[in-house]
Amino acid sequence: MNTHRLAVRARGITKCFGEIVALDGVDLDVAQGQIHGLVGPNGAGKTTLLGLLLGLAVADTGRLEILGTPVRRALDAPEGVAGFVDGPGLYPWLTARQNLAALASLRGLGGAAARIDEALDEVGLADVADDRAQGFSLGMRQRLGLAAALLTRPRLLVLDEPSNGLDPVGKRLIHSVLSRLANGGAGVVLSSHRMDDVEALCHEVTILVTGRAVFSGPLSKLVSENGALDYRVVASDPPAARRIVADITGIGVVGGHDDGEVIVVSALVPALDELVVRLVHSGIAVRELAPVMSPLEAAFVALTAQQELALDRQTGAGR
Ligand code: ATP
Repeated sequence: MNTHRLAVRARGITKCFGEIVALDGVDLDVAQGQIHGLVGPNGAGKTTLLGLLLGLAVADTGRLEILGTPVRRALDAPEGVAGFVDGPGLYPWLTARQNLAALASLRGLGGAAARIDEALDEVGLADVADDRAQGFSLGMRQRLGLAAALLTRPRLLVLDEPSNGLDPVGKRLIHSVLSRLANGGAGVVLSSHRMDDVEALCHEVTILVTGRAVFSGPLSKLVSENGALDYRVVASDPPAARRIVADITGIGVVGGHDDGEVIVVSALVPALDELVVRLVHSGIAVRELAPVMSPLEAAFVALTAQQELALDRQTGAGR
């Protein structure tokens, strides 16, 4: 498997709907064998970008290559791309199995019929294979949509909010299906509002704000570029822990009750490391240490605020 080949290469992608600039010069690289998360506030352009990857629409300007092939027209996505935006298109009056059979025959997928049961099993729908899709919950419809995508043996899978409506077991199942696909060399691009899902699943992330990519790269880079984070600390001797915090440069108490068990500190990672070392050297046990907001969530909040401020300044200057 060559993880350096790109499933998606987008440069300077712009897409407008009348006056609305949905995408504003977006660059995106998704390597084969990787899961790439798109996050951003409502209306940031995630679904629009995913639609372009699926060939449902075409960019106004910019260059888009999917699986090494330039995309020039809508419905021009090369073979090997599967997925859905705005929920999967299903025939409600057909059963789960019939839906997949219809898709296999419509797409002329040779040999796919034999894989239908396997695909249903993979997404945990084997027990309801002969139930009509119209009675399916949102989570079940999402899973059936994923089974439909799996039938095509995609080399690029594009999913809009795949965890929507899924219970924890369903979510774990879908995560393992996506990870297996990526391990087999496929590129996966998904959007999500769930930062914990993105952190658990994705190798790389792009943060879109008002149509612009304000960050794109590995999650580790996002963490290292991040400023101080707030951490919850529970130590066996809270008053002594507070004294040690006060003695370390670059770390400060920002929350928790003065006489309470939980201390909330704000720190960069090196200062936090020093705190842990000094607590342990002083015979104080660290019972809990966790960021109040995950690094991705914190970066999301900070970058969104910065971008919105910059836009306000631009529009203010234009007035
Ligand atoms: P959400 O998180 O709410 O799903 P999103 O990041 O997916 O949002 P998009 O659906 O891509 O955002 O929308 C980006 C912008 O483009 C929004 O301002 C939206 O109103 C606009 N837009 C998207 N599709 C159309 C369309 N077909 N016609 C007009 N405007 C559209």
